[in-house]
Amino acid sequence: MSFPARWDDGTTATGPDHQVHRYDERTVIIRQALRTNFEGPFLYLLLGTERALLLDTGTGHADLRPVVDELIGERELVVAHTHAHGDHVGGDDQFDQVVGHSAEEVAAFFGIADWPHGIGRIDLGERVLDVIPIPGHQGADIALYDRETRLLLTGDSLYPGRLYVPDWTAYRASIRRLAGFVAAGNPVEHVLGAHIEMPDRPGEDYPMGAVAHPDEHPLQLAPETLTELDEALTKAGPEPRRLVHDHFIVYPR
Ligand SMILES: [Zn+2]
Ligand SMILES: [Zn+2]
Repeated sequence: MSFPARWDDGTTATGPDHQVHRYDERTVIIRQALRTNFEGPFLYLLLGTERALLLDTGTGHADLRPVVDELIGERELVVAHTHAHGDHVGGDDQFDQVVGHSAEEVAAFFGIADWPHGIGRIDLGERVLDVIPIPGHQGADIALYDRETRLLLTGDSLYPGRLYVPDWTAYRASIRRLAGFVAAGNPVEHVLGAHIEMPDRPGEDYPMGAVAHPDEHPLQLAPETLTELDEALTKAGPEPRRLVHDHFIVYPR
């Protein structure tokens, strides 16, 4: 289990459109090069014995399908999303079997009763993932917990960068529930989001729309970062506030 010492920000003319990193044999992290789109999102491909789950398809400005096809072998592919913003669903039309974008469709697919309070599940074949609804950033947001690797995938709701929050009340409640899920006996090794928007310097962020990311912060966040975010939101209270922390910036809009 490993991460690159430093991700390539994907600005060199000769680099691949997608960087493929095997975290372990059955867990692949794919980064869309910044050169193809300034969002430079991270996508996750989780392999079970029967099925493969691709979480997000990027902005659609790069050819993703061949990369995924080569990695999944004979497995059936399911495509789902951390949330329905364009930089995470943009490549959907390259795939056949894609989960719908609305909260209702996401809840139905993962068997989540009483969105956003229930917890869903998907079994990829000897690999069970828990699906936790966390609306607040977009509306159909989910976090994925992988019991095997203890990775927690948080999309745009927690990553090293600007956490845009249009729905403060929903976001606070979601982070509360997510922290509660972890505390209830689901230990986390790393929190992995969908972007990096900070250099490796506490509380600093790149300018919006930056086309290069020198000295990027690592992708992975310590599990304590979720606790820190939850406590900061609780302390901030019901009025939206910008919160600058070492490894994330809460950014109401
Ligand atoms: Zn988003
Ligand atoms: Zn995004």
